[in-house]
Amino acid sequence: MNTEIKSLTLPELQAALTELGQPAFRAKQVYTWLHRGVRSFDEMTDLPKALRQELAGRYLLTAPEVLRRQSSALDGTVKYLWQLHDGNCVETVLMRYHHGNTVCISSEVGCPMGCAFCASTIGGLVRKLSAGEMLDEVLFTERDSGQEISNIVLMGIGEPLDNYDNVCRFLELVNSEAGMNIGMRHISLSTCGIVPRILELAESRLQLTLSVSLHAPDDETRSRIMPVNRRWPVEELLEACRVYYEKTGRRISFEYAMIRDVNDSPEAARLLLKRLRGLPAHVNLIPLNNVEESPLMPSDRATVLRFQKQLEDQGVACTVRRTLGSDIDASCGQLRRKYRNANPAQERPTRSAEDKL
Ligand code: SAH
Repeated sequence: MNTEIKSLTLPELQAALTELGQPAFRAKQVYTWLHRGVRSFDEMTDLPKALRQELAGRYLLTAPEVLRRQSSALDGTVKYLWQLHDGNCVETVLMRYHHGNTVCISSEVGCPMGCAFCASTIGGLVRKLSAGEMLDEVLFTERDSGQEISNIVLMGIGEPLDNYDNVCRFLELVNSEAGMNIGMRHISLSTCGIVPRILELAESRLQLTLSVSLHAPDDETRSRIMPVNRRWPVEELLEACRVYYEKTGRRISFEYAMIRDVNDSPEAARLLLKRLRGLPAHVNLIPLNNVEESPLMPSDRATVLRFQKQLEDQGVACTVRRTLGSDIDASCGQLRRKYRNANPAQERPTRSAEDKL
């Protein structure tokens, strides 16, 4: 299959175009067009026609189609279901916050990690997204909505650190001055806790925000709801977080989905406090979103607030995440799941959580 041109960095594109005998300024021209979200080489109107044809013959130019677009009447959240060039689909969510427009992007089609509460993982992993396809989610959300994007969270479908190389490449692309130029401090990456990759990311010293999906402070509970914990248990994960903080100076954000009678007791809060001691952290409590296929239930509001108070009383920053887009299936994997259930022949998983761990 042809190389995806949008996954190339500017220096790589420069090398490729030099090889085609093109003058030095061409690469920047092409790169700029690509990062503006053109759908075909013919839209690159200041390029010679012969070059446009040559590029079209050599490279794949990805441009996803909107399969579904759902807008929340409550808060302006927009959820996109994109159809990729091979028929697979992924979701992107556009959220409007006072600090700017944020897109939540997917990093894989499906997910191999097998978390018990998550709709994205039900069919396993289909494939990883390329760097260009992740960039497309940002670009085409901006283009379709007409809203300038200032923040990115890698919290959609998939496990970003299971697709490490492509995610790093995506970060380089979206951060590049000739591209969308979105600052690292405006980007968050969420992981279920793949320890070696957290350590690798720490070495890169990128100034992005690392979010760790903790969801339970003890191995027994965490292994039950997150199979990844059987491979890298809580202590090891938190040790990697400490290293991450030391290397990058960035406070870690911990996600904690409140699940009724599973992880929401005062003892759980106490153990969480103990485990986080000495680690600059911010805890984000997320009321669990109901997933049809799962028996897990959200904690009630009073329990969530009591848990929050328990952490705050001990000096740990803790917020309860506002639920955006609750009227449009906006949480992780729900829309794709619905679409797949209605169109079962579309995708085939290649790997399950068990193969992976
Ligand atoms: N794979 C990455 C990023 C994707 S999920 C990760 O695990 O962090 C983004 C966040 O949503 C994670 O914290 C995930 O655990 C959480 N999540 C998934 N399903 C959820 C649900 N039904 N209710 C609440 N949070 C959920």
